[in-house]
Amino acid sequence: MSSSSDSESGWAGGSASAGQADAVIVGSGPNGLAAAVLLARAGLTVAVHEAADEPGGGARTTEAHLPGFHVDTCSAVHPMAAASPFFRTFDLAAHGVELLQPPVAYAHPMDGGRAGLAWRDLDRTADGLGPDGRAWRRLFGPLAEHWQGLADAALSDLRHPPHDPATALRLGRRILTHSSPAWLRGRARFRDHVAPAMLAGVAAHAIRPPGSAPAAAVGLVLATLAHAVGWPLPRGGSGAITHALIKQIHEHGGRIITGHRVTSLAELPRAKAILLDVTPAELVRITGDELPARYVRALRRFRHGGGATKVDFALSGPVPWTAPGCDLAGTLHLIGTRGEAQAAERDILAGRHPDRPYVLAVQPGVVDPTRAPTGADTLSAYAHVPHDSSVDVTPMVIAQVERFAPGFRDLILAHHTTTAAEQERHNPNYIGGDIAAGAMTLRQTLLRPALRWDPYATPLPGVYLCSASTPPGPGVHGMAGTHAARRALRQRFGIRTPPPTA
Ligand SMILES: Cc1cc2nc3c(=O)[nH]c(=O)nc-3n(C[C@H](O)[C@H](O)[C@H](O)COP(=O)(O)OP(=O)(O)OC[C@H]3O[C@@H](n4cnc5c(N)ncnc54)[C@H](O)[C@@H]3O)c2cc1C
Repeated sequence: MSSSSDSESGWAGGSASAGQADAVIVGSGPNGLAAAVLLARAGLTVAVHEAADEPGGGARTTEAHLPGFHVDTCSAVHPMAAASPFFRTFDLAAHGVELLQPPVAYAHPMDGGRAGLAWRDLDRTADGLGPDGRAWRRLFGPLAEHWQGLADAALSDLRHPPHDPATALRLGRRILTHSSPAWLRGRARFRDHVAPAMLAGVAAHAIRPPGSAPAAAVGLVLATLAHAVGWPLPRGGSGAITHALIKQIHEHGGRIITGHRVTSLAELPRAKAILLDVTPAELVRITGDELPARYVRALRRFRHGGGATKVDFALSGPVPWTAPGCDLAGTLHLIGTRGEAQAAERDILAGRHPDRPYVLAVQPGVVDPTRAPTGADTLSAYAHVPHDSSVDVTPMVIAQVERFAPGFRDLILAHHTTTAAEQERHNPNYIGGDIAAGAMTLRQTLLRPALRWDPYATPLPGVYLCSASTPPGPGVHGMAGTHAARRALRQRFGIRTPPPTA
């Protein structure tokens, strides 16, 4: 496949002096690497160009604060990787990645010492929710039973009919119900305050008010996956996923070039297809004047949303949660009631810092002893803050943890904070700290990056966008890369049946 000559028509661009490849990928996040795996397995020569000195984008693990303490720089918990069609066929386990399952997928501590606990087992979860157990079972039972259909629909290109229309319809109905005012919810209403708080805690992953439709969709999908595939953490950290993908690319002769922030297509090897794991703004920057003005205008309307300030802690021991069960959870949502989550996310939208921000905390030590020296522990947290905030919210994050785990402060050996504004420095895709690579408004959830039938193809022949700024949006699932690579294989190389990834 690499025998195409310079004179062949339809080159996507690039410079002869930079060499040649069948396909070039810019950006080595999970989507860029998934695309590279698919293209390399189809027999194409592939080169991946990455701005950072280390590949992986949002799936990297480093020694951040003290020797022996390993932290994930971005993603840490992987329901999406466990459920995604790409990773299901890639088979992380076969590539040496051990996805470790915390007994409790996520916990939602409340004031007063109680917590909502999402066990992998739906019935056990429902039993813990007292009067709301039945409603929880009714809400998630049918979705969890058909979780593959749910994952396929949620992680699709959102342009084709779902493989399992009945499950997609069930999900759609629940999204409408859970983004309607409480008085309209009828049978779907919860009576106690723990179940609504749990659902809001998951919905807020979208960095939108939990009552909005996109947040409800995110919440329902992720909460279902807790009861289907769990919310696992890779042994050793998220970097293990990246290493597995890179190993596969190397095995197929692909190359990864790090430390190269691409600023123009001319810097790239000549290639028949170029896939860009970048934001729409970076796409415009890289392609210069080559894009039609109308498409550029559409991309310029793309909006980035609220940010995340990340605080990683090295601890002398496990967090002393008050509520039983929290010590078994991989992930914790620290915000309190649904009303508090709603108010905090509304503040973020309005550009205000809430006094008590939404904090998502991950304690890998529950399942993975390799993250910290014996007896010690780590806690990785991020707080939602307004877009591009440079405020150091570490004291607020510590206060939110203390609220549910008094004594936490005394365990801190060191911490490392990355403000929302600083996120962009180590990953250009997180503009203003927007870890979703584009605000999850209703429009941008369905139509990212712009209103187009094919969200991946650009008007430049052979140039595709394949980042989380395209459907299905954020998360370590590799599906934006998969959808873009499939189009490139079909349109540029005439390969209609993509190769198996396993
Ligand atoms: C703090 C944080 C926590 C998160 N937690 C989770 C989680 O627990 N679970 C989960 O599923 N998801 C999580 N996410 C989201 C997830 O990491 C992203 O949605 C995912 O990584 C997106 O993959 P991607 O390939 O589209 O882009 P990215 O992973 O962002 O990778 C893009 C890559 O492209 C490179 N790049 C950009 N521009 C250029 C250029 N011009 N030239 C060369 N290279 C370039 C960047 O350096 C980067 O390496 C989290 C994100 C953050 C920041």
